[in-house]
Amino acid sequence: MTPILYIVIPCYNEKDVLPQTAPMFLEKLKGLIDRGEIDDLSRVMFVNDGSRDETWNIIDELSKSDDHYVGISLSRNRGHQNALLAGLMEAKELCDITVSIDCDGQDDINAIDEMVREYKNGCDIVYGVRNSRKTDTFFKRNSAQVFYKLLKKMGAEVVYNHADYRLLSKRVLNELANFKEVNIYLRGMIPLIGFKSTNVYYERNERIAGESHYPLKKMLKLAFDGITSLSVKPMHMITVIGIIFMLCSCVGIIWSIVSYFAKTTVAGWSSIIAIVCFFGGAQLFAIGIIGEYIGKIYMETKERPKFIVSERTWKNNGDNIVD
Ligand code: UDP
Ligand code: MG
Repeated sequence: MTPILYIVIPCYNEKDVLPQTAPMFLEKLKGLIDRGEIDDLSRVMFVNDGSRDETWNIIDELSKSDDHYVGISLSRNRGHQNALLAGLMEAKELCDITVSIDCDGQDDINAIDEMVREYKNGCDIVYGVRNSRKTDTFFKRNSAQVFYKLLKKMGAEVVYNHADYRLLSKRVLNELANFKEVNIYLRGMIPLIGFKSTNVYYERNERIAGESHYPLKKMLKLAFDGITSLSVKPMHMITVIGIIFMLCSCVGIIWSIVSYFAKTTVAGWSSIIAIVCFFGGAQLFAIGIIGEYIGKIYMETKERPKFIVSERTWKNNGDNIVD
């Protein structure tokens, strides 16, 4: 059975790029259909993320020009991750696999062929990984490097140099739908789902037209969201710092007592220093403990699945098997 593929593309104010890249996506899709790799029901799906320009009109026109183009439009701008999730959840019911990609032509669409091949080899998730960052600015290249390292240190598992260009099978999409969290960071959530995955490497190009929607401010926000939505490690750090402060305060207390007996201080100084040192540490420690509980509550509120079954002896492929 040939799979139905949906290429899901979030678009925000992309009127300059879309007319150029849309035919490229269509050509790629039709090539795969012609070679019998994917079903003719496959589609290029655009998600208009509340654009303020003519992006939605362009998508509408495209859908009239060819059946293989489809589009949905969000009621307002909700950001790249939400737009992408909207597209994936919409496509989930209609396809066997999705490939998510940006609409600016930066990601090499030829990697889709290999992604589909890997899916047929039994992979449920295929990550598009850029093998160089030649086209990025010096700043972006290094800030991204620092970001990945920081995420790892903070306890979040992400695939190095992978953005949101990836293939997902239907069963992964179904599991993704069970992640109830509101602050989403797909790059960190997909690895949590598990299943067999692999990487496909590609060259990342310059944006064909228009401007990046990720200036420094938004990049920092994404980094912060990534860490805080995947890990409660920053809270553990407060607890540890609290303990260290309390231990240090012991030195302060001893010092103030010694000073008291050495009579090198004015009256009252020693007791005040001892109290300040001790309570500074104790308060930080107490905040850390409260933080630990908040961290637990935080993780509970996400209502993530506690486990996902990948195989059963009596049923070999989750729930999408036709008997
Ligand atoms: N995008 C979106 N909503 C937003 C911002 C961006 O849907 O609020 C889309 C955008 O149209 C593009 C993708 O997300 O298809 C990635 O954005 P961009 O290319 O600006 O990011 P960069 O590649 O510079 O990181
Ligand atoms: Mg881009």
